[in-house]
Amino acid sequence: MNSLLLTGGRVIDPANRLDSSTDVLLLDGKVAAIGAEAATQAPPEVERMDVGGLVVCPGLIDLHVHLREPGQTQKETIATGTAAAARGGFTSIVCMPNTTPTIDNAGTVALIHERAAQHGIVNVFVAGAISRNIAGEELASIGSLKRAGVVAITDDGHCVQNNELMRRALEYAKMFDLPVMDHCQDYSLVTSGVMHEGYWSTALGLQGWPAAGEEMIVARNLLLAELTGAQVHCQHLSAAGSVALLREAKKRGLPVSGEACPHHFTLTDSAVAGSDKFWNTDGKGIFGFGERAELPAWPAYDTSFKMNPPLRSVHDREAILEGLTDGTIEVLCSDHAPHCVFEKEVEFDYAPFGITGLETELALSLMQLHHTGRLGLSELIAKFTLAPARLLRLAKGTLSIGADADLTVFDPDQEWVFDKGLTASKSFNNPFYGWPLKGRAVATIVGGKKIWIEQSELAAV
Ligand SMILES: [Zn+2]
Repeated sequence: MNSLLLTGGRVIDPANRLDSSTDVLLLDGKVAAIGAEAATQAPPEVERMDVGGLVVCPGLIDLHVHLREPGQTQKETIATGTAAAARGGFTSIVCMPNTTPTIDNAGTVALIHERAAQHGIVNVFVAGAISRNIAGEELASIGSLKRAGVVAITDDGHCVQNNELMRRALEYAKMFDLPVMDHCQDYSLVTSGVMHEGYWSTALGLQGWPAAGEEMIVARNLLLAELTGAQVHCQHLSAAGSVALLREAKKRGLPVSGEACPHHFTLTDSAVAGSDKFWNTDGKGIFGFGERAELPAWPAYDTSFKMNPPLRSVHDREAILEGLTDGTIEVLCSDHAPHCVFEKEVEFDYAPFGITGLETELALSLMQLHHTGRLGLSELIAKFTLAPARLLRLAKGTLSIGADADLTVFDPDQEWVFDKGLTASKSFNNPFYGWPLKGRAVATIVGGKKIWIEQSELAAV
């Protein structure tokens, strides 16, 4: 049951610099052999899976997911969130601590581990909070969080404003060998901003969230990484200035990194003005998509386009793509943030921030980064495997012999439409329903077990 022989796929493992058409043997939940010996070592009874024409890679990792359990299970649960992850091709996810109660103590970490073991179908790693109750006032018990098994700390959804408190958090995190991930938002600059501050916020009469509100905290974090020597990871970067700051800091050898989400490098703030304005003003179009007529229309003030940080300008989108291309931003993730329909069906100002993303991120990343020629498949896969595994010290993200048999099989060219009826998430707040996408996971394998199969492609399996 935990053994499989995958034959004829294009096997890409950035950790081992492997890219070749060959076979992979999984035995008892571990990678047993790759190459010609895979077939010869396979026991005769082992199940075979023909994956010719498909890419086989280490299981994808999403280090930025809101599972909403405990306390907000009307939006998502560990069961539905991990099912969405499996459909998107993800074998490991990291859940954020802004649940109810917050994950700021060992007991809640243990609860998530227990529920994930019972109800999760992919590996769930836990991020603990930086501050108690994510209030930014006093530090959480970072040492006891580490002992409970968190892989990082973050106040995601919120941002520690007090620089001295952040410095102490970095010092503790360094002692306990934990990376610190930060949602970069300066409250005094952002105040109650709901979309990118620029032409469109003025035209629409919505309060702006300036790019400097992110860049200010990115700069703060880089300075504190230099001061303390702690590993700082800037979450969901959206602004050109943030990319420039991170690039410069990395050149100086600071222990810093960054991540980007597909909505920030696919869409721009003009989307908030409706599809007509989006197409008329975004001169560069959306890479990888066909004619405008093929996409659904949407009205102005559609809350599916409200997220934090917000969609930004064409210039910012270009800078994020450039940062991903030149390696400044090494991690891709979704910031999967489910919300109920009734919560989003209100005026733009009152809607919660965030969209779901686990099921669309692989396709959108392939479309914007690979099908445009910016990144080779191996480079793109590294941002979903090797890079997050390295950052969080996970024994994942590789097909080395003996590694856990977590694998993703995907078709980079399959064209499909994201249909509301097909989502495994409990929530529907995603702007990409009805969009023609290119690239899709067709099999997700965790510990040698097939947990998700896209039937149309692998009907014979
Ligand atoms: Zn965030």
